[in-house]
Amino acid sequence: MAEETIFTKIINGTIPSKLVYHDDLVSAFADINPKAEHHILIVTNKPIPSVSAVTTEDEPALGRLFTVAAKIAKDLGVSESGYRLIVNCGPDGGQEVPHIHMHFLAGGKLGGLGFPQR
Ligand code: 5GP
Repeated sequence: MAEETIFTKIINGTIPSKLVYHDDLVSAFADINPKAEHHILIVTNKPIPSVSAVTTEDEPALGRLFTVAAKIAKDLGVSESGYRLIVNCGPDGGQEVPHIHMHFLAGGKLGGLGFPQR
């Protein structure tokens, strides 16, 4: 099993967060440093360090990231207007927390590829 991460502590409730979703495979909470009006992190409960470390065993949790993203979009009323999903991988990809997570960004036009400029 991989190391415990800051996100593991958020999932366990050791570190407080604005939790918006939790089930047996994934959790979602507001990013502490939002880059858009709505910036939510959807994370696997298992602390997989990065996309480079995934195995076929992880496919149910990885698929769940997308179904939860669709649910959050519906809850926020942006399913049709749009949103952006980002997964940073490794140092050159800008990944800071070594625990797989999908950034969910929404709220107006997000501009070009990558994180919106605020
Ligand atoms: P990465 O750069 O790894 O793709 O994204 C990590 C994200 O985690 C960043 O957007 C950062 O703001 C967020 N983050 C880091 N520490 C915390 C924390 O303690 N709580 C929350 N809610 N978000 C965090």
